[in-house]
Amino acid sequence: MNAEIISIGTELLMGELVDTNSSFLASELAKLGVEVRWVTKVSDDPTLLREAIERAWKRSDLTLTSGGLGPTSDDLTRESIAAAFGEEMTVQEDLLEHLKGLFANRGFPMPETNIKQATLIPSAVTVPNDHGTAPGWWAEKDGHVIVAMPGPPREILPMWENTLAPKIKARNPNVCIVTRNLKTFGISEGGLDEMLSTLFLSENPYLGIYSKQDGIHLRAIATASSDEEAWALIQPVESEIRRVVGEDAIWGTDDDTPESLTSALLQKKGLTLGIMECFTGGLLASNLAESEGSRMFLKGSVVIHDDELLGAHGVDSEIITRHGTTNPHIAEDMARAARKLFNADVGLAITGLSEEATDVSGPLGTSHIGFAAGDQVSSTSGHYPTSRLRLRSRASTHALLGLIRFLNSAL
Ligand code: AMP
Ligand code: MG
Repeated sequence: MNAEIISIGTELLMGELVDTNSSFLASELAKLGVEVRWVTKVSDDPTLLREAIERAWKRSDLTLTSGGLGPTSDDLTRESIAAAFGEEMTVQEDLLEHLKGLFANRGFPMPETNIKQATLIPSAVTVPNDHGTAPGWWAEKDGHVIVAMPGPPREILPMWENTLAPKIKARNPNVCIVTRNLKTFGISEGGLDEMLSTLFLSENPYLGIYSKQDGIHLRAIATASSDEEAWALIQPVESEIRRVVGEDAIWGTDDDTPESLTSALLQKKGLTLGIMECFTGGLLASNLAESEGSRMFLKGSVVIHDDELLGAHGVDSEIITRHGTTNPHIAEDMARAARKLFNADVGLAITGLSEEATDVSGPLGTSHIGFAAGDQVSSTSGHYPTSRLRLRSRASTHALLGLIRFLNSAL
């Protein structure tokens, strides 16, 4: 089954509203094994809207529209479907009663303009909407379906889950889609592409490569007639990726984040953490604080931008005099100081150079990350050829992935 999505509303074409409905619907259709071929954004202009709907209805098995079901004169999705199908819209008494009831519950009479939300054409049935006044339409003619949904995402989501997804799934019963996402860090996109070139030729599973803030993701998508068969297609590809890329470069899968893994590992080992940040301005602690159960392990963090203050917080001023503040030695000593300062089991520290630094004593966009636990210290350094905004975020990810490695090897 193929599909097409049309997002309706002039505000979408003015750049005033971001079209999240089409990405939601596209990802949901992919899970049902429906191939999305086109996504269109169209304004409330009646001619253009009708043209988009008519074209979609003719060329696609399934068309999903969002928006334009409101009561106002610029909400014209129903009218456009009716025109494309050559059918007449008529008011349905049961729908009208239901609509009047909704307004009565809110304590005011129904405006005349809302009547069109109680209409249907002969080829359509309604899709219940428990979160708004506009029901959806499931319109079907000549073997092609158009589903019209309201605009607000909070109305679409329950309609999708309760009615539309099961109904579409029933029409496409023998297709199961399974995805597996392997998350890597430290190897470039080009490097991975070269290492895995033969796997990228495969159509099923299809292997995609995506550059994300937390590294490069490798996502395999398999299609089969059952989940078991789909997993059986994925499994050898996953093993081959792990063999070629190496376990060290793969830090997580699917919904894992550096924060969720760090948090889970510290809690599993029953360890507490203290943080000292020179480079990331508190981002590292802030990201970790959002993870579940962070109060259990995060004892404290301090952000320091002044060399003298480093000394005042327990960092060896002789190291600063000898090496400066952006090098692995200082990162290790900061980690030791952070551990002591917060009386934590583990210390994590990050220092580095961003492009606005004036005392340039190393490549810009370089960070040094220190780890300390008991009498063990270690460090790692990273260089991120990326923009200033992403620099700190990359460094924070690197610090957490480095910490996971340190905890697994040192403790
Ligand atoms: P409408 O049904 O066209 O009047 O849309 C009602 C509201 O739904 C809009 O004001 C937006 O807040 C939201 N909305 C409409 N279309 C979209 C879309 N494609 N993505 C996200 N939100 C939308
Ligand atoms: Mg609108």
